[in-house]
Amino acid sequence: VPSHRLAKIEIDDIEITGYSVAGEETVVAVPQLNVCFDIGKAPDQVISIDNLLLTHGHMDHTAGIAYYLSHRNFSGQTPGTVLAPQELLEPIQQIIDAHGILDGNPIPANLVAVRPGGEYRIKPNIFARAFATPHSRNSVGYTLIEKRKKLKPEYTKLTGPQIVELKKQGIEIDYPLEIPLVTYCGDTEPGDFTKLEFVMNSKILITECTFYTKDHISRAKAGKHTHLNDLPDLMRNSKNQCIVLIHISQRTGIGFARKMLKKVLAAEQLDRIIFLMEHNKRRR
Ligand SMILES: [Zn+2]
Ligand SMILES: [Zn+2]
Repeated sequence: VPSHRLAKIEIDDIEITGYSVAGEETVVAVPQLNVCFDIGKAPDQVISIDNLLLTHGHMDHTAGIAYYLSHRNFSGQTPGTVLAPQELLEPIQQIIDAHGILDGNPIPANLVAVRPGGEYRIKPNIFARAFATPHSRNSVGYTLIEKRKKLKPEYTKLTGPQIVELKKQGIEIDYPLEIPLVTYCGDTEPGDFTKLEFVMNSKILITECTFYTKDHISRAKAGKHTHLNDLPDLMRNSKNQCIVLIHISQRTGIGFARKMLKKVLAAEQLDRIIFLMEHNKRRR
């Protein structure tokens, strides 16, 4: 029996699954890309995902780290690869070591330091690019980018043998193409990252919106979280096919959040927004 009931959404051929409630737990996985963003309390369904990409150290996003690694070891899987901002690596290692002592067995881990602008290979053609987010010290978000080679337009009419011939002559017949598939911002207020093309062109943008009422504007600012009032600007720059909102508090509730969203966004913009925690929703 799985430890959690996770939400699941499908956007074209990309499935996103996870759980996200502000202050409680946030974990968002893209199983087919073998990536889990943040770990929350390590629900069973994400343990077998090999790449864990942590955005920042807050407990609601990292509490399950030792369990994730230990459970993989216990069930004979390879140690997970954990990407995290460089400054978090030492305290993460300390937590893993302490749990290893409690457990009586050391917990293997493959920790990788991340810096904004850095790129990390996930699969042969899929890379995670990190970018800085203004939330906690050194927090980051990630974009999963597919890299392809595409035939230059001047060669598209050539036959197979002609192309082989050009290749033999050492002529560069294709150019690199980057397709940003999924961006995960973690916790953050909007910042410079909303000017990054690969973020705003990402097919799917997963971002938080924690606060929805006027009297919470100052709380959003203090905690460096996104407020409803920030969304119109974000949506204006967004070319994302779909924006997945996470980190809504239990007290706010999705019904209320949606009602408030209708007050500040145009119909076309609302149409592209989906709340992760609306379970089992399907799109296109
Ligand atoms: Zn959080
Ligand atoms: Zn946080």
